[in-house]
Amino acid sequence: MEYKAITCFFCFEQFEVSLEVGSSFVGNISEIYDCEVCCNPNKIDYEVYDGEININNVGNGNE
Ligand SMILES: [Zn+2]
Repeated sequence: MEYKAITCFFCFEQFEVSLEVGSSFVGNISEIYDCEVCCNPNKIDYEVYDGEININNVGNGNE
């Protein structure tokens, strides 16, 4: 479990999400997280490689 601060797609406030990362997992993941401030769904695309998380995009989770 790793915590990352992201900027909400809707209200531009920052909030933390906890991302589940398997130690041997490599690849791209898309998950929906509700903003802690405005409760809108943010779709977070992130990439896991060698235990490192890179967030590629935060978008509209309603689509
Ligand atoms: Zn928000």
